[in-house]
Amino acid sequence: MCMSTRTAQNKVCEHCNQNFTISEGELSLYEKVGIELPTICFFCRVKQHLSFWMFGKFRKTKSDLSGESMITVLPESRYPLYTLHEWHSDKWDPMDYGQDYDPNRSFFEQLQELQEKVPHPHQNGSKNTGCDWCDDVWNSKNCYLSRSMEECEDLYYSYRNVKVKNSIDMTICFNTEKSFGCSDCHNSFKIFYSKHSRDCIDSYFLYDCRNCQNCFMSWNLRNKQYCIENVQYSKEEYEKKLKSFNLGSHKVVLSLKERFEELAKKEVVHRQNFNLKAYNSDGDYLLDVKNCHNCNTINDSEDCYNCMRGLREKSNIDANGCWYSEMLGNCSCCLYGYAEKYSVWSSSRYSEYVDLCIECENCFGCVGLKKKKYCILNKQYDKEEYEKIKNQIITDMKKRGEYGKFLPYSMSAGPFNFSTSFLYFPETKKEDILKLGGYWQEIDESHIEGTPTSELPDDIKDVSDDIIIKPLICPETGWRFNIAENELAFYRQNNIPLPRKHFDVRTREALKYLTVLRSYPVVCIYCEKNIEAYYPPEWGCQKIACEECYKQNIA
Ligand SMILES: [Zn+2]
Ligand SMILES: [Zn+2]
Repeated sequence: MCMSTRTAQNKVCEHCNQNFTISEGELSLYEKVGIELPTICFFCRVKQHLSFWMFGKFRKTKSDLSGESMITVLPESRYPLYTLHEWHSDKWDPMDYGQDYDPNRSFFEQLQELQEKVPHPHQNGSKNTGCDWCDDVWNSKNCYLSRSMEECEDLYYSYRNVKVKNSIDMTICFNTEKSFGCSDCHNSFKIFYSKHSRDCIDSYFLYDCRNCQNCFMSWNLRNKQYCIENVQYSKEEYEKKLKSFNLGSHKVVLSLKERFEELAKKEVVHRQNFNLKAYNSDGDYLLDVKNCHNCNTINDSEDCYNCMRGLREKSNIDANGCWYSEMLGNCSCCLYGYAEKYSVWSSSRYSEYVDLCIECENCFGCVGLKKKKYCILNKQYDKEEYEKIKNQIITDMKKRGEYGKFLPYSMSAGPFNFSTSFLYFPETKKEDILKLGGYWQEIDESHIEGTPTSELPDDIKDVSDDIIIKPLICPETGWRFNIAENELAFYRQNNIPLPRKHFDVRTREALKYLTVLRSYPVVCIYCEKNIEAYYPPEWGCQKIACEECYKQNIA
C-alpha cells in the first residue's frame, strides 16, 4: 500500500460500476488502521456487511447437537445450528474442524468450507426470560416476535428498541410504554402512530412533537395540550372530537394515516438531520460524537469514517454494527474488538478474516474459536509458523485479488432478502445478489390454511375471542400470522383495529423512513441556504430546515 502522498483518489466500484472517491481523511484513517483501500463504493460496502446479519423469518427447529427444540431466524442449510447455551459450552470443540492451508486454492473458498462445517449459535443475546420467540435480545422479559432490543418487557412485533414496555409495533424507540405503532420516539407514554417525538403522553399521530399531552394529528409542537392538526381546543371540545373519530375502525385509521403522510409532506418542518451534540461530524442520527464522518446511528464515538449502527467506537473505518470497538477496518457486527480487519461477529484483537471468534488474538481466517492465539483455519501454530503461513496466505490472496476485500457474499448469513441489508437496500434485485455469489429465498406459505385479512371485521369491537386460533393471511406476502391472546387484549383496551399485514412487513414499512444512508441537496425553507439533508426527493417533503433555522423556529 503506497500512501506517502495523501490525495483524494477516484475509483470505480467493482460491484455497481459507480464512481466513488476516497477522501484524504479516509486515506489517513485507512493507513492508521492498516487496511487495504476499498475496491467497492460506500453503499456496496454497507450492503455486503449487513448481509451477514439476518432479519430472517422466525422458525422452529432442532439443535444439530442435542435435538433440543429452538426458535431461530437463521437459515436452514448454511451451517449447523446449536442452541446458544450449547454453543458456549465445552460440549464441542471448534478446533476439531481445523484445516491445512492449500496454496493452490482460493483462501476464501477454503474459509467458506470451514465456515459451513462449524456450528453457529441459534440466536444472539443473554439474560432474558420468556423471550424464546425473539432474536438479538438482551436483559429483557416476556417479549414476542421481536428483534434487537435491550431491557424491554412485554414488547411484541418490534425492532431495535431500548427500555420499551407493554407496547406493540415499535421501531427504534427508547423509554416508552403502553404505545403502538411508533418510530423514533423517546420517553413517552401511551402514544400511538407517532414519529420522531419525545416526552409525550396520551397522543395520536404526532410528528416531531415534544412535551405534548392529549394531542392528535399534530407536528412540530412544543409543550401543548388538546391540539388537533395544530389547532388549540378546550379539554371538552378535544375529548368530544376524539370520541367522534372512531379509532377502532381499520378504514378510519387507514385514512388518518394517509392524512398524516400528507401533512409530513406539506406541513411538517423537517430537520436537516437528527444529530445531537455532533462536533465536526456529518451523517444522520449521531449523538455525542466527535470527528465522525459519513456515519449513521452512532453514539459516543470519535474519529470514525463510514460507520453505522454503533456505540463507543474509536478510529473505526467501514465498520458496521460494531459496538465498543477501536481501530477496526472493514468489519461487520464486531463487538468489543480491537484492531480487527475484514471480520464478522467477532470480539477479538489483532485478527483478520475471523468469523464468530470470541476473545482471540492474532488469528487469521478462523471460525467459532474462543480464547485462541496464532490459529489459521482453526489449526494451532506457534508464533513463528503463524507469521510465516499468514504472510504466505496474504501474498497468495494478493495474487488472486482477494486480500483486503471483505468476506464474499457466498459466506453471508443467508438469503439476502432476509438479511438486515435488505432493510436498507430494499430495491436490490435477486439476480444482482446471485451474480455476486449471494443467496435469495422465496417463502411460500400458501399450503397453510388461513383467513385473508380482508375478511376481518373492520372495527375491533366486532372481533370475537376465537380470532386467536385463526391463522391470518398477509395480503402482501401470503405469509401466515396469528393474533396472540395478550395482543388482542391490548387492541381492545386501546381501541386499535387488528393488523392486516404480517408483522415483518409492518416493521419493514416503518424502517423505510429510518434507513436513509444518503443525503440529498435541498434548500433551507427559511434562509434558502443550500444544505444536505436525509430526505429522498420521492418522499416529497416540502419544508426542510437547516440546523440553525430549525433551532430558531421550532426547537
Ligand atoms: Zn458500488
Ligand atoms: Zn436555514
